[in-house]
Amino acid sequence: MRYIFAIIGSVILAVTLVSFFLSFRQVNEERTTLTVNLEQRAILLADSLKESVEPTYTNYSGSTLKSLLQKTVDKFANRERLAGIALYDNQGTLLATSSGLPKTIVENNVSVSGAMDSNKSRTSFLVADGESRYVFIDPLHGNEGKILGALMIVQNAGYIDAAIGEIWKGNLIRLISQIVIFSITIFIILRFFVFRQVIRLVDSIKKIRMGGLSETLKEVDKYSFFSPLAKEITHITKSLSQARSSASEEARMRLEKLDSPWTAERLKEFVKAYLKDRKIFVVSNREPYIHNRVKNEIKYLVPAHGMVTAVESVMEACGGLWIAHGSGNADKETSDKNGKIKVPPEEPKYTLKRVWLNPEEVQGHYIGFSNEALFPLCLMSNTRPVFRKEDWLMYKQVNGKFAESLLKEIRNVSQPIVLVQDLHFALLPSIIKKSRPDAQVGLFWHHPWPSPEQFSICPWRNEIIKGMLGADVIGFHIQQHCNNFLETVGQEIESIIDFERFSVTHNGHTTIIRPFPISVALTNDTPQKEDEKNTKPFRSFGIKTEFIGLGVDRLDYTKGILERFRGIEYFLDTYPEYKEKFSFLQIAAPSREGAQKYRDYAESVQLEAERINKKLATSDWMPIIFEKKHHSHAELTPLYRAANFCLITSLHDGMNLVSKEFIAARNDEQGVLLLSELTGAAKSLKEAIQFNPYNVSEIGEAIKRALEMPPSEQHLRMKTLRGRVKDYNVYRWAAEFIKVVANLG
Ligand code: UDP
Repeated sequence: MRYIFAIIGSVILAVTLVSFFLSFRQVNEERTTLTVNLEQRAILLADSLKESVEPTYTNYSGSTLKSLLQKTVDKFANRERLAGIALYDNQGTLLATSSGLPKTIVENNVSVSGAMDSNKSRTSFLVADGESRYVFIDPLHGNEGKILGALMIVQNAGYIDAAIGEIWKGNLIRLISQIVIFSITIFIILRFFVFRQVIRLVDSIKKIRMGGLSETLKEVDKYSFFSPLAKEITHITKSLSQARSSASEEARMRLEKLDSPWTAERLKEFVKAYLKDRKIFVVSNREPYIHNRVKNEIKYLVPAHGMVTAVESVMEACGGLWIAHGSGNADKETSDKNGKIKVPPEEPKYTLKRVWLNPEEVQGHYIGFSNEALFPLCLMSNTRPVFRKEDWLMYKQVNGKFAESLLKEIRNVSQPIVLVQDLHFALLPSIIKKSRPDAQVGLFWHHPWPSPEQFSICPWRNEIIKGMLGADVIGFHIQQHCNNFLETVGQEIESIIDFERFSVTHNGHTTIIRPFPISVALTNDTPQKEDEKNTKPFRSFGIKTEFIGLGVDRLDYTKGILERFRGIEYFLDTYPEYKEKFSFLQIAAPSREGAQKYRDYAESVQLEAERINKKLATSDWMPIIFEKKHHSHAELTPLYRAANFCLITSLHDGMNLVSKEFIAARNDEQGVLLLSELTGAAKSLKEAIQFNPYNVSEIGEAIKRALEMPPSEQHLRMKTLRGRVKDYNVYRWAAEFIKVVANLG
């Protein structure tokens, strides 16, 4: 609609300008014609008046002259549009005048004398008594051309302005009618003949792109001017269809060859071949698309979260239903009455079902028990968990609410596959299993699992473990977390633990415990384009240095951002030759801002960056640029590609996807990954430079090593890292997890 109004507006502007230009010309021409008419009438009248009065001037003088002239004036004066006549002697003295002539005109002897001096007639327009007048003055002659005096003829010229006014009025009415007619016509043409066709064309192309390969562009009117385009697109569609079926055939064949890389296509084929028509249901707290109203516009955001990044790629490949907390302020208006919306918004591939929580539920379940109790309990980053009874009760209530929502969805689905995500839903597996023993439930724990001693401080540990053991499979990122979990189970509840199969049998139900290292969607080795290799993306942050380091994190105290900044300070203090040559960009997506601890941490990070900058910065260089803002993956990729290194200093991390995203982005096989040894990723990414994040000098030395590493060594390391990530990418993660959950392997 906006475009239609913009086009109509432009046409109106153009028509108005042309119309004004033409009206202006017409008015000028009309004014000239009317003035010439007026002048001609004045000349004719002057000529006949002269014939009568010039002999009188020659033959008479004094009062006789005056009375004869007055008679002549009275005789001529009552003509149409004539305002009056006046006669003067050769001194400019008024001899006779018709009644009613304004004094300001009659006594204007400057013009009268001027006409006599120059011996030429004079004309002018004057406004007198509120009316426009045309004044014509002509000298009178006697024998031998002697100047006897002058005559003045004054005509009413108001009718000229009236005529011009009429022209403007008429043209304005015509312009308005043209605008109305043009606007309606353009609106109809654009809305019904152009835009409707374009929208149909776009819809058809979208359907085709999303797999509706039988679609042709039949919806485009064959008589419309888009039909040649539609024909071409139909040809492309056919080629696309062929390409798709060979890709799918290849993926089917690759299913059998376990050493070939996993792709979205292969995962889709795997789900089709092994799960047949069984549907996948995901439950998580964080939703993959958050709709918010910004000013008058609704915008969506993909939250910064490793779980979202991974599960989203799987859902895009397999389809299904994802149940999550609707946390955006425009989530309700963008969902249907059941809280459902098809996503991704531009290219729907699966359904997101939003569950609504009230502020008390969010506070108790999410902020309270999940973030302040379970999260610090699992992550060893020297933060004491806070256990509150009211949070625990709310945690149970919200687990029940999500279970109810899921049970409603799987009511008529036999043997549904349910993939529960993370520590927000430890109790969900057992609730689901109690109502639906046929459901195959997997729980993936996206965080580390602590030692039994550490976990034993949780007052509700027994219920949590029993809730988790309702799942058929519990996945962790690495073997160490599986070991910790089995030991915890052994200490906390009565059960049979099989260390060979890595399973727990409790109350007759067996749960398999396995590591599934989560990953990203690296599938191919497309070479980096030339223009992707420059440092341009950093210039918008004001960074112009030769060497650039990058950090990308949620603003979370487990990410070790303070330690990272101190490591940078150590590096610049120890190796001052890098001052003004090196800058570090820290992208920090605000996280859990509802919690005071997170707000305090964000502030301390900001202050630390300011302190170091104040100490080291020069007039046109800053060592640390702290960007506290969420960035989309599309914005992050060019930064990953252009940085000399990516620095990850997590004090403890289940996996850390940023490390893998950096590797996935570096298809130039350059760049150095600096990775905390306390991340899950460190177990497999051995070619990264690893360090202890609690030791700032180790961070500083690692930065020096990265900046001085020869390109050949960078290439060797990055090539191997890319091989590792490609081999165990997110599609393989999902396939292996689903395979075990569905009891297929
Ligand atoms: N992320 C993002 N925008 C940002 C910062 C981070 O999308 O501004 C993403 C990042 O690309 C990664 C995820 O957030 O996919 C963080 O995952 P990771 O496993 O590293 O940490 P988690 O947040 O799960 O603890």
